[in-house]
Amino acid sequence: TLARKHGRRVGRYSSSFDMSARRSLVLLSDFERALREEELEVHFQPKVDLATREIMGVEALVRWRDIVSGNIPPSIFVPIVEKTTLIDQMTRYVAQTAIRQLAQWQRQGIELELALNLSPPLLGNPDFMNFLKALPQEYGIDPTRIEIEITENALMENADALLRVLHDLNGSGFRLAIDDFGTGYSSLLYLKNFPISTVKLDQSFVRDLPDNEASAAISAMTAAVCKRMKTRIVAEGIETPESEAFLLEQGFDVGQGFLYSEPLSAKDITDWITAYRANLPIQQPA
Ligand code: C2E
Ligand code: MG
Ligand code: MG
Ligand code: MG
Repeated sequence: TLARKHGRRVGRYSSSFDMSARRSLVLLSDFERALREEELEVHFQPKVDLATREIMGVEALVRWRDIVSGNIPPSIFVPIVEKTTLIDQMTRYVAQTAIRQLAQWQRQGIELELALNLSPPLLGNPDFMNFLKALPQEYGIDPTRIEIEITENALMENADALLRVLHDLNGSGFRLAIDDFGTGYSSLLYLKNFPISTVKLDQSFVRDLPDNEASAAISAMTAAVCKRMKTRIVAEGIETPESEAFLLEQGFDVGQGFLYSEPLSAKDITDWITAYRANLPIQQPA
C-alpha cells in the first residue's frame, strides 16, 4: 500500500505539473494571437515629484484583455512570455507605442518623462537593443527623457557583457532604474557596480508605511544612501497620504501609486494630467 500511495502521489504531482505546463502553452498561443492581432494595449501610470507635486513622468505598463478570459495581469503572463522569443515582439510593441505617445504629448505641449520595463533576457539581444536605441530619434524624443527599468534579478550576475550593455544604453542617453529595489539578493552591490540613475523602492516596503518599523527603517536607509550617491529615489505603491508624507520627509524624490492614479489608457491619462495640472495652485514667482 505504501508503494501504491507513493505511486499515486507521484501520479498526482506529475499530472498537476502537466496541467500547469499545458496552461502555459495555451496562454502562449493565445498571447501570440493577441500580439498578432494587436490586442495588447499600453497603459500609463503617473509619477509625481514629491517636492513640487508636479507630474514629472509616466510608466508604461502592458495590458492584455482577452475576449474570453478578460484582463490577464502582466504579473501572470510576462514571466511566461519572458521565457520565449515573444518577449522581443511584445516589448518592441510597448516601447514603440509608448514613445509614439510621448512624441504626441510633446506636440501637445505636455512634457513628461517615460519609464519602460525591460525583461532581463532582452539585455542580451543585440537586435532588440538596436531597435530600442533607434526609437527616440525616430520619434524626435530626447533619449534622456526615457528611463529603462530593470528588476534586480536581471543584474544578478555582474557579467562583463551585461555591464557593457548597461553602459551602452547609458551612453545612448537612456537613464537606468533598478525596479523593485530591495527584493534581490545584493541590492547595494548593484548600486555600487552599475551605472544607475534611479532606484525604485519595492512596494512591499511602501505599502505599510509609516507604521511598520522595518519598512520605515529600510525606506529611510535607502533614501539616505541614494541621496549620498546622487541617485534619484522613487517610491512605488503609495496608497495613503500618511505614507506619502513619510516618504517626502525621508527625502524621496518621486512617488507613484494609487494615491495619485492607477495606470490608465493614453486618452484617460491625458485627460487626468490636464485636469491635475489645471488644479495645481499657481506657483508664486520668488
Ligand atoms: P512594476 O514595473 O514594478 O510596475 C508597478 C506595478 O505596480 C504595476 O502593476 C502597477 O499597476 C502596480 N501599482 C502601482 N501603484 C500601485 C499601488 O498603489 N498599489 C498596488 N497594489 N499596485 C500598484 P502591473 O501593471 O500589473 O504590472 C506588474 C508587473 O508586470 C510590473 O511591475 C512589471 O514587472 C511587469 N510589466 C508590466 N508591463 C511590462 C512591460 O511592458 N514589460 C515588462 N518586461 N514587464 C512589464
Ligand atoms: Mg516598473
Ligand atoms: Mg516595481
Ligand atoms: Mg513589480
